[in-house]
Amino acid sequence: MHDDRVLVEARLERVLRERIRPAVYPLTAPLDVEIWSTAGEPVPVAEGLAAPTLPIAEGTPWGAPWGTSWFKVCGAVPAEWAGRTVEAVLDLGFTPRTPGFQCEGLVYRPDGTPVKGLHPRNSYVRVASPALGGEQVHWRVEASSNPDLDGGGVPFQPTQMGERATAGDAPQYVLGPMRLAVFDETVWNLVMDLEVLGELMAELAVDAARRWEILRAVGRALDAVDLQDVNGTAQAARDELAGVLAAPAVPAAHRISAVGHAHIDSAWLWPLRETVRKVARTASNMTALLEEEPEFVFAMSQAQQFAWIKEHRPEVWARVKEAVADGRFVPVGGMWVESDTNMPGSEAMARQFVHGKRFFLEEFGLESEEAWLPDTFGFAAGVPQIIRAAGVRRLLTQKISWSRTNSFPHHTFLWEGIDGSRIFTHFPPVDSYNCEMRGRQIAHADRNFKEKGAATRSLAPTGFGDGGGGTTREMVAKAARLRSLEGSATVQWEAPAEFFAKAEAEYACPPVWVGELYLELHRATLTSQAQTKRGNRSSESLLREAELWAATAAVRVAAPYPYAELDRIWKTVLLHQFHDILPGSSIAWVHREARETYRRVGEELEGIIAGAQRALAGEGSTQLVFNGAPHDRSGVPAGGAAPEAGPGGLVAPVPREGGGYVLDNGLLRVEIDDRGLVVSTYDIGAGREAVAPGQAANLLQLHPDFPNQWDAWDVDAFYRNTSSDLVEVAGMEVAGSSVRVERVFGASRVVQLLSVPWGVKRLDIDTEVDWHERERFLKLAFPLDVKADRYASETQFGHVYRPTHQNTSWEWAKFEACNHRFVYMDEPGWGVAVVNDATYGHDVTRSVRGAGTTTTVRASLLRAPRYPDPETDQGVHRFRHALVPGATVDDAVREGYRANLPERRVTGAVAAVEPLATVREEAAVVSAVKLADDRSGDLVVRIYEAHGGRTRATVSVADGFAVDRAVLTDLLERPLAGADPLATGQGTVRLALRPFQMVTLRIPRT
Ligand SMILES: [Zn+2]
Repeated sequence: MHDDRVLVEARLERVLRERIRPAVYPLTAPLDVEIWSTAGEPVPVAEGLAAPTLPIAEGTPWGAPWGTSWFKVCGAVPAEWAGRTVEAVLDLGFTPRTPGFQCEGLVYRPDGTPVKGLHPRNSYVRVASPALGGEQVHWRVEASSNPDLDGGGVPFQPTQMGERATAGDAPQYVLGPMRLAVFDETVWNLVMDLEVLGELMAELAVDAARRWEILRAVGRALDAVDLQDVNGTAQAARDELAGVLAAPAVPAAHRISAVGHAHIDSAWLWPLRETVRKVARTASNMTALLEEEPEFVFAMSQAQQFAWIKEHRPEVWARVKEAVADGRFVPVGGMWVESDTNMPGSEAMARQFVHGKRFFLEEFGLESEEAWLPDTFGFAAGVPQIIRAAGVRRLLTQKISWSRTNSFPHHTFLWEGIDGSRIFTHFPPVDSYNCEMRGRQIAHADRNFKEKGAATRSLAPTGFGDGGGGTTREMVAKAARLRSLEGSATVQWEAPAEFFAKAEAEYACPPVWVGELYLELHRATLTSQAQTKRGNRSSESLLREAELWAATAAVRVAAPYPYAELDRIWKTVLLHQFHDILPGSSIAWVHREARETYRRVGEELEGIIAGAQRALAGEGSTQLVFNGAPHDRSGVPAGGAAPEAGPGGLVAPVPREGGGYVLDNGLLRVEIDDRGLVVSTYDIGAGREAVAPGQAANLLQLHPDFPNQWDAWDVDAFYRNTSSDLVEVAGMEVAGSSVRVERVFGASRVVQLLSVPWGVKRLDIDTEVDWHERERFLKLAFPLDVKADRYASETQFGHVYRPTHQNTSWEWAKFEACNHRFVYMDEPGWGVAVVNDATYGHDVTRSVRGAGTTTTVRASLLRAPRYPDPETDQGVHRFRHALVPGATVDDAVREGYRANLPERRVTGAVAAVEPLATVREEAAVVSAVKLADDRSGDLVVRIYEAHGGRTRATVSVADGFAVDRAVLTDLLERPLAGADPLATGQGTVRLALRPFQMVTLRIPRT
């Protein structure tokens, strides 16, 4: 037979596009449309419904950036359409861009009940089926004219659209046709048949018989279509396709569990307030689709988004609750938001699950067992233990498929964290959280799946995401055809839990991946928007103190415990750990609001702390030091208060021969040269120099930083090829007991204060940068005379080791990584820690020192990407770092806490405040002291092994608590089934901890 394949394929494409798809709506009638617009903030629904409207015609521009318009849409179904299916098709002026990145709307009835959302791939509203004729349509559409920030077709260009004040007021959209239409379901089904078969055909081998079988059927179907009467002949065309559509999948076909989904970024290229509406639109659409499609299942994550619906859209909430009760609208993920997981601290990461799971339990009675983080930029090695401790067993993400250097070897595997906790993890091989049921995607999932032969299943999150939208009826129709179709993977709608149960059951021995799931992309999210990073770190530290001191005040002096305030503040801080806020990848509006929010959170927490300390101290003139850190300090017990003991204060700088200053406290001798660089930090007791020979520490280095794409997200490896050292000094002097160094570079200025306290081997460096650079990367370097093959970076409840070399492509790709409060490296018996109070990004490299190697640690301070926020990081920033020579890992942990939890001095009447809980062993670190969230008054103490070894810990608990009834609990403070009874003594609880093990101890009141 002659080869006419290309001819038939081209015919299919043209006939579908130009004849069959347009015949889905063969008859139309215009609707009357009126509009009322506000360029300001959204108005309440009642106000929008009542707003005075004016007529607007198709083709009229509307919608200032970030404005809201209320359309009034009225009409009647023509009498001659009786018996037909009638829909309204409402084109707000949609562009070819995908849903969520342009205008969108929510349709209401006149009484304010929502009907469904509108987006460019879902712009219909069913009116009647069958129509009687004469049905009246009276709707209001709340439409958002959100600007397209990728306008112009060139991605990642600086834009002023990301902030209301700079976005202007030019209309963003042109009203499209708004009309009633007869919906021809047969033609629509023919479109679905042809799309599924055409897309499947394109994925099959050209010499595969099945491909030709489909091609011939498609040819016959096209022959059967009368192009002058598509509606009259569509059924005949469908009949020609029935045979090839009925051919079942082969037994070995890959099995895809489709989960309806709309990945909704809680903020990104839109402000938080718009996400509230995005969620309502998507949820309205999905509850409507669930009513129409009995087999469809939709999963929504992020308790915060459910909470928004509950608070802001009660009518939508009622429908969601109903659909959840039916088991088909599935709350998934058990987290407050889909957070970043690299940067959130131990407690915050734990609270993401506490607040997420608790919301799902309280609202729906659901115990989430799946963590759902499809889009998060890498996963810290401390996270598996937290997931486990929250009662979650499984994890889904697809983001690691974005890695640019190495292809991750597994799709279904056990992920093992630093403490040995393992989580059953699935990476959907479809490599997307926005599957549209396209043949290309289904075939990619099948081909890509790396567990073939050992496992048969994968999950496909299906629906428009990022900016919302969700699943469409077309995706559902395609899934139905793919249920069992020869040549394709099979598709079945399933809730995530159903998929995981089957995937676990069929895969007894999945491979194991140990340590972090590092994303080889988006490494700059550890640095961009430095104020957001500082706000997060400082809020986490203040929350620790607020809980500690409020609990202490509640127990010691019966002060009221601020349950409601802490619950609200935690949720605010957790929201801002969303994977485009804390990573710094949102528009200017989001980060401006984040800075304001962190300031308010800080003030409120300072108020709680001050109130509790005032209640504890009483009125008097005794000088008390409150120590919120988990280690005793200056004679003040951890978690307690006492008069300050010890010398305290800073060493006075003395002039150095040859210029500069010397800071010497008898333990450490630091030399600062005439350039303001630290050329020596000598550990006097150990007789060792910490600074690499011929090098200088506290060296600021500036790199050009213009990544190939994703400006706020990415720093590309070539940034290192060019660097300038900031060694010019604009001024150096003694300021108090510090050496003050000033430098000017570019349009920026930096002032540093270097100081050495008495009694410890530590150089403190406070850096203030007035930053006005563009597309540059500022690093603070510490070249150290330590030969280290690996170094430790603090992560949640412990630390993770990374190599300092780049033997493999996996190691090379980790050229920028995350630390919490410290990085640490050592040779046996002698190490160095570099601690910080607000930075996360860093790099560690090796250099030759003549003989042997040295290790350079560089903290990442500032960048200045211009997309999506063109003014990223402009302005004044403060950083605190400390270099701790001669440190053990214990010192690194302790100094990390110290830098983030300054002592607080209060005058009062009491001599001291005893801690509520004390752990004597250095390795056992208290991560939280609080009262139980259930308001029982029970004390909750979370403790972890921080050194990576084993320890026995004795926890002494304040009087008034029944240590004999102490229990170990999960993160939600629920007693753990099967946990060993705690050996208790006189007011103490004894624990045996594995390396990096974290436990939550709950102790009732007597
Ligand atoms: Zn996302």
